[in-house]
Amino acid sequence: MHILVVEDELKMAKALREGLEADDYSVHVAHTGEEGFYLIQAEPFDLVILDVMLPGHDGFEILSTLRKRGIRTPVLLLTSRDAIEDRVRGLDTGADDYLVKPFAFPELLARLRVLLRRGKQPDEGERLRLADLEMDVAQRWVTRSGQPVELTPREFDLLRYLFVNHGRVVSREMLARDIWKETARQTPLDNVIDAQVARLRRKLDGQFERKLLHTVRGVGFVLREQDEA
Ligand code: CA
Repeated sequence: MHILVVEDELKMAKALREGLEADDYSVHVAHTGEEGFYLIQAEPFDLVILDVMLPGHDGFEILSTLRKRGIRTPVLLLTSRDAIEDRVRGLDTGADDYLVKPFAFPELLARLRVLLRRGKQPDEGERLRLADLEMDVAQRWVTRSGQPVELTPREFDLLRYLFVNHGRVVSREMLARDIWKETARQTPLDNVIDAQVARLRRKLDGQFERKLLHTVRGVGFVLREQDEA
């Protein structure tokens, strides 16, 4: 497994390299966003660990440019503050996960394993349909009325989860556990989840008369044809 670390702080970059190499990952370190951006385009990585606070173009800008160019390599963001805005912005921009500094190394390794597993096992040939919404899980595309809907990796996972459970109400706790893989967080993820669902809904339902993604007040969310709430 080939991992790119984009981190300007030398001590942190060194610690990451040593820790990851000790866990048998092959590691490449970039000390600026520009260098990281260049490397991601130049060679394939299985995963990118991207620090948000970088001189010049910061982590958000790098991530946003990558996703706009269709580069779907899983990205784990390192944020230096536990600011909810940073996390929401990171996930909205297309990060697959984030860790707040300082973090425990075993937690980083656990997150990496989850992301790498997710990237390794796409469900082959799974195509999901609801009304005029269609999702191809293996090829990772979504259309509504035949028009492509551009989703970030997180939005894609979220929609897939709602699809698999369509007609059933999905709670924020379920999403936190199964999509965000958070079981024992001090701060609830509700705001992050609500922001992400709102964004997904704008993309899916925004211009359409018939709404498919509904909020069930006080309970959660449901993907279904009729609004029975
Ligand atoms: Ca930094």
